[in-house]
Amino acid sequence: MIQARCPICDAAVVAEHKPFCSKRCKTIDLGSWLDGAYTIPAVEPPSPEELSPEELEVLFGKAEA
Ligand SMILES: [Zn+2]
Repeated sequence: MIQARCPICDAAVVAEHKPFCSKRCKTIDLGSWLDGAYTIPAVEPPSPEELSPEELEVLFGKAEA
């Protein structure tokens, strides 16, 4: 099987949180939609590489490893 990747942070997807790796990324995705970050549905969400450092900080905050 091909390991799916989280569209938010590119980590391995966890079945419980499909298609994301965690509830946090799911929330981030929803928040991005609500925030108008995605203007066109059904397109690839922005990868972390496409986000500014400021956006990443807002989205991810401090790493909770
Ligand atoms: Zn993720």
